[in-house]
This record gives sequence, C-alpha cells and structure tokens, in this order.
Amino acid sequence: MRYSQTFVPTLKEIPAEAEVVSHRLLLRAGYIRKLSAGVYTYLPFGLAAIRKVERIVREEMNRAGAQELLMPMVQPADLWRETGRYEKYGPELLRFKDRHDRESCLGPTHEEVITDLVRGEVRSYRQLPLNLYQIQSKFRDEIRPRFGLMRGREFIMKDAYSFDVDDEQANIAYQKMYDAYQRIFTRCGLQFRAVEADSGSIGGSFSHEFMVLAKTGEDTLAVCKACDYAANVEKAAIKARPVENQEPMLAPEKVETPGKRKVVAVCEFLGIRPELLVKTLIYKVTGGDGQQKYPVAVLVRGDREVQEVKLKNLLQAADLELAEDKEVFDITGVPTGYLGPIGLNGLKLKVVADLEVAAMRNFVVGAGEKNYHLKNVNLDRDFEVAALADLRQIAADDPCPLCGGELGQIEGIEVGHIFKLGTTYSASMRAVFQDHDGQEKPLIMGCYGIGISRIVAAAIEQNHDENGIIFPVALAPVQVIILNLGLKDAVITAAAELLYTQLQTQGVEVLLDDRDERPGAKFKDADLLGIPFRLMVGARLGKEGVVEIRHRRDGLTVELASDQVVAYLLNQIAVAGSAVQER
Ligand code: ATP
Ligand code: MG
Repeated sequence: MRYSQTFVPTLKEIPAEAEVVSHRLLLRAGYIRKLSAGVYTYLPFGLAAIRKVERIVREEMNRAGAQELLMPMVQPADLWRETGRYEKYGPELLRFKDRHDRESCLGPTHEEVITDLVRGEVRSYRQLPLNLYQIQSKFRDEIRPRFGLMRGREFIMKDAYSFDVDDEQANIAYQKMYDAYQRIFTRCGLQFRAVEADSGSIGGSFSHEFMVLAKTGEDTLAVCKACDYAANVEKAAIKARPVENQEPMLAPEKVETPGKRKVVAVCEFLGIRPELLVKTLIYKVTGGDGQQKYPVAVLVRGDREVQEVKLKNLLQAADLELAEDKEVFDITGVPTGYLGPIGLNGLKLKVVADLEVAAMRNFVVGAGEKNYHLKNVNLDRDFEVAALADLRQIAADDPCPLCGGELGQIEGIEVGHIFKLGTTYSASMRAVFQDHDGQEKPLIMGCYGIGISRIVAAAIEQNHDENGIIFPVALAPVQVIILNLGLKDAVITAAAELLYTQLQTQGVEVLLDDRDERPGAKFKDADLLGIPFRLMVGARLGKEGVVEIRHRRDGLTVELASDQVVAYLLNQIAVAGSAVQER
C-alpha cells in the first residue's frame, strides 16, 4: 500500500463533537466518518482494523466448534411476537412496514430467527449439539448513541447461539464459549476481565460480560481484592443483611427545612448523617408488556444509589427512567426534595424500598410539603411498601458477596456478553427435539455476543497517547509504516522500495509513505495512525547504510543495517504475537 494512493483522510483539528479519545482519534486518523447519529462509514483503515478483529473471532469460534452462517437483517414482526419481544423490546427495536403493510424490524439480535431456523431443521438428539454464529451489522435505535463506535445505532456484532440436549451439555457449550472469549480478547492484545452480569432483556439464567478495562468505560465493576469475585454493579448482589436497629421508636415530628432539597443540605441543616435519611425517588416505568406506563416511588438510604437494573428486574419492567423535577411535581404534587413515603399510598403509587430501609429506625424523610421534612419515621408503623428488595448499588464499604473481603470498583467497556438462556426461547417458540428415550424436549440454548466494532474503539481507549493511537500489533490495519524521507534521492528511494517489497514478500502488511511531505508531517501521521513499527529511511542510509526503526508503543528506537531490517521486524511481530498468547 502506498500512502499517496491510499484513502486515509487524516484531520489536523480535533473534532469538536467527539467526547472520548477513541472517537476523536478514529475521526482524526481517517478511520471512520459519521453518516448520521450513531451510524458510521468504516474507511479503508478502519475496516482493516475491524477485519483483524473478525479474523481472530472467526478462528477462535471455529476452533471451539461453532459454524458460521449469515441470517437476514430484516426480520418479520410475527416471529418476535411469538416470544413477546415485539412489544417488550422497547424503542431500541426499529419497527417498520413493507409495501404490503407487513410489519418488520431491523435485527438488534437474532434469537428469534435462529430458533425459528433450528426448530425447522433439528428433529433428533443425533443432530446436537449445535453452535451457529454470524458476523453482521446490527441495528439498535439507542436512546443516546455516542462515543463513536463505542455506542452506535448500527454496529458490527458477532452473535452465536448454542443448542443442546440438556443442562449439563449446555453448560459445557457455555464454558467452551467462555474459554474462546478469553482467547479472543487475549489475542486482540487487550487487558480485560470476565465478570458476572445481569441477563437483561435477553432473559435466561446466568451470564458473564467481558470488559476491557478503561477509565472511559460506561460500566462499573465490583472486584474483590481478596478472591476471584468480579461482577458488573448491575448484578453485584448485596449479601450482608443490615443489622436491625433496636432503638425505641420515637414520635414523628415535622420540622421546617427551608430551601433544603438535597440530601447533603438537609443533613447539614438537621445535624444528622445521611445514614439517617431515606430519600424518595420517582421512576417512570414501562411495564413488561411494553405498553402500560406507571410511576413507582423508590426508597433508599440517603447516601446510597438506586441500581436501576435491579429495580427493573424487580418490577419486571421493559424500561424505566428517573422522573424529572417537573414530572415529580405533576405526579405527586410535591416539589422534589420534599417528597416522602407518607401520604404517597393515598396517591395509589406503588412504593418499593431497599432492604436497608427496613433496618433503619427513626429516620428522616420529606414531609410531602415544600420546605418540610419529617423526623423519627419508621417503616410499617408510619407507612407500608409493596416490596422490600436489594435495590441499591453495591458500595465501596460493602463486603465481597463471596468471601466477605474488601471490594474495589473499576470501569470497563463491555466487549462481549455470554448468556445461558435455558429454554426461554425454545419453550415459547416450541423448538423441540426427540431425545434418546423418544421423549420430546425443548432445546437448551445459550447465546454469545461480541461487539466487533466496539472492540476497535475499546482498544484505542486502552492504548493511546497524546500523539495518537497505539494499536496492539494484532489489530493494527498494517504492522509497519516505511517513511521515505528522501523522495528525491535515488538511493534512499530505492532502499525504501526494496524494504517495501521484501516485507510484503514475507507477509508483513506495510504502508509506504511516499508522499511529498515534510518529515515532521510524516512522523505525525504515523503516530496518529497507531502503526506499531515505523521505519525511517533517510539521509543516514546513504552515508552509513543505517535505517531507524521506532516502536510506536514505547518510543524505543533502534538503528539497523538495512539488510537486517526484515529479520528484525519479523521477529518483533512474532514476539508481540506470542507475548499476547502467553498472558
Ligand atoms: P450495552 O449494555 O453496552 O448496551 P448490551 O448488553 O445491550 O450492551 P448485548 O446485547 O449483549 O449488549 O450485545 C453484545 C455485544 O454487542 C455487547 O457486548 C457489545 O460489545 C456490543 N454492543 C451492544 N450494543 C452496542 C452498540 N450500541 N454499539 C456498539 N456495540 C454494541
Ligand atoms: Mg444495549
């Protein structure tokens, strides 16, 4: 590849709309361009990086015994109605009608389509196990597409689906995928961690997410410092039960708290700690049928956060969202900050509380009236709740649910998610097979996703500096860039051309920078593009026969006679590959 003929439209300015570094660098390095919100064109170098990921994924999926196929992106609504997901999936599912008025949707995931295929073809245990996968563009009408390839509306996913005769076999299939994922992300050169995860709208019995560790990650992980426990905070259960407070209950007392709406302000004003306050939050909930909308009041201790995924699971909701101030007022007639559980029952509002609230005594809540709070409030004596459950996010002071050890929290980017589905889909879609004993049984399923395009963004979040991308060797669009720094010098040009052909002959992917640009500009672009090895062929070649090689990752520069360059680079590329394999 010659740079002069390659379409890599790099940008000098920092794109204003890009909030995270991977988005900025993918735009600046000429890897992607935006078509519309969350929808991108992959330019040649962006596509090359994506193809690298795909190749690793294909090799490991095939090695694990999965077979590739390709399913349609446009799916009939009726199939989705069989599982109830046409209604339940929410607005991320893009629904539309064709010219014959037939309802359809763009595939955000393919459980329905694959289950339909398999129920039509698989009759007997002899045809099992089966693991089928595809690599394809998915469409999800995300509410907040952002961060470039990290959260697109159209993005590339690998999705696999396994079918087994019983639970034991299904667990083996799951473990095979777990192991394949470990190899995939290791080979991609990423630092990652597998964590326990919520099963979400896909349903099913258990699941793991694979998280690339990066500060910009949208997910928070609770990780035990003493044992192997690691979980998405959406999932991390709070095991230690709060100790019941045995203090005698005092008489409720209404106190004036003028202008004090925030927890901190109220606590300061009343001279109490937030552990003695219960906040009341209003959520707008969309029911499991995807239709019914209703508000719910949620009670948690003043210093805690509601974990919305736990709340969603408790309510079996399709979707939920914290109500804004004005909506809170419209629903309850009380300004935010002064809301409390007492009197809410009269509003026919469902009230649920975090477990911790049940153990609290004589706490403070909003009085349901502007500028007032109530002291010495107690659950059951003063108000009732429809449900008491683990609804809060695990906090730094919570012990590890497994070993009781200390927990830490880190950020991660979800690049893969595996689910044990069980019979969630096969039961509703009647995907059955005949077992040894002649009995008809539902297929036991699993599903396994990888965000192919998101991996490229995650790799950049984890590997970059102020000058640009630092691609892991395995994901770089090309491994080597040769800078011809003496375009008008016949000796230099001949040497650069020779190295270019020699490296290509050895199967190394090379970009030859043959542009009529100043050296400074060439250095800048090479850094920006993130190509692992930069070969500088310039004045020193003529005088001393020396070529410089610079490693993008650590800036290490070595000088070599030009006839040693190919062997050196082949060795470096092999070392980068094997170091990753061993990790
Ligand atoms: P998230 O919680 O980030 O929305 P998800 O749980 O909805 O992800 P899955 O349904 O498990 O994701 O999809 C499989 C994989 O596809 C994810 O692990 C992620 O890597 C990728 N992915 C999901 N949504 C997007 C998106 N909007 N843009 C890019 N990649 C995505
Ligand atoms: Mg999602």
